[in-house]
Amino acid sequence: MKKVNKLGINTICTHVGELKDEQFKGAISPIYMATSYQFDDVDIKRYPRYFNTPNQEALTRKIAALEKTESGLIFGSGMAAISTAMLAFLKQGDHVVLQETLYGGTYNFVVEEFDKFGIEYSFTKSLLIEDFKKEIKSNTRVIFIETPSNPLLKIVDMKAVASLAKTEGIITMIDNTFASPINQTPSDFGIDIMIHSATKYMGGHSDILAGAVAASNEHIERIWNLAKNLGGSLSDFTVWMLERSMKTMNLRVKKQSENALEMANYLEEHAKVDKVYYPGLQSHESYDIAKSQMKYFGGMLSFEFNDTINVEQFQRNLKLIKPSMSLAGVESTVLNPSKTSHALLSSEEREAQGIKDGLIRFSVGIEETEDLIADIEQAIEKL
Ligand SMILES: *Cc1c(COP(=O)(O)O)cnc(C)c1O
Repeated sequence: MKKVNKLGINTICTHVGELKDEQFKGAISPIYMATSYQFDDVDIKRYPRYFNTPNQEALTRKIAALEKTESGLIFGSGMAAISTAMLAFLKQGDHVVLQETLYGGTYNFVVEEFDKFGIEYSFTKSLLIEDFKKEIKSNTRVIFIETPSNPLLKIVDMKAVASLAKTEGIITMIDNTFASPINQTPSDFGIDIMIHSATKYMGGHSDILAGAVAASNEHIERIWNLAKNLGGSLSDFTVWMLERSMKTMNLRVKKQSENALEMANYLEEHAKVDKVYYPGLQSHESYDIAKSQMKYFGGMLSFEFNDTINVEQFQRNLKLIKPSMSLAGVESTVLNPSKTSHALLSSEEREAQGIKDGLIRFSVGIEETEDLIADIEQAIEKL
């Protein structure tokens, strides 16, 4: 795959792909809302659902530069990106290997939809490479991973998965949402297709729903062929908003990652906390792999209080940190997976996945950590 990334990270975030305002010399990309473009001699038929409006193409260049790939596509949601990418490479009779723990929406998409397309699937027993190997069959076309994973921040060895897939002629896809391209660039390790819920770190302000895919020209063309038929494109206003948000992505994600490491250290020392899950802690089961493939360790962590703490009351007592569903915004949020994202599973199913009822997932924002710590301390004190 051709590497196109020569500029520094903040320069890419700020400038790559930007559209020039030739008419007024404005400082930012103009926004082109047209759904209809006059034909010219050049054989480009621009139309939003063809993923080729000026703003879509501009933002795609930024995302591809960040993921060090040739090309990319922007979608109306993370799930539009994930479903389109998977279905572009899987047909009736094919088989896909998926990692044991995946984002709930991806899991639902596979188990609720694949049977009717005649696509076979297996989930690995663990995140160890041997367990990926065990699931591969003669008709396996895709291996799909997500590292760090939600909500326990488990780590998959990307290089090992990519080389296993290469020897078998299998395409590899990663949901790179949690790390963002700031914290890891899977193409460096041989992963073929990078997918994002841009709703999270790319957007970063809890006000945009979007998805993105980055890959080689050849793979993007294959995904595009299906994407134009499924029609999951993003409105150009939101594309423009996302371009604006991504200018500060490195600043935000770096600060969030620094904060998360500090909060993880604080929580690990806390007398009322039993366990902290964060790939940047030496106590993490895959710390060495995380260190070898991540720049910072991301803004997401999870922890378990001991049983003296009423988790629901604790969350109600918080003043600054908001209990809420989504993640990756500049504001800190917490969520109790057993009551929200994993509420549809039984207690036993959750336990089997290592998700205890007292587990709290923490999306660390850009606030000052002393204020976050003070908020947690006052919420505990009030119990
Ligand atoms: C949120 C999320 C998605 C789905 O993205 P939407 O934008 O909500 O469609 C997929 N993967 C991960 C890891 C997510 O956090």
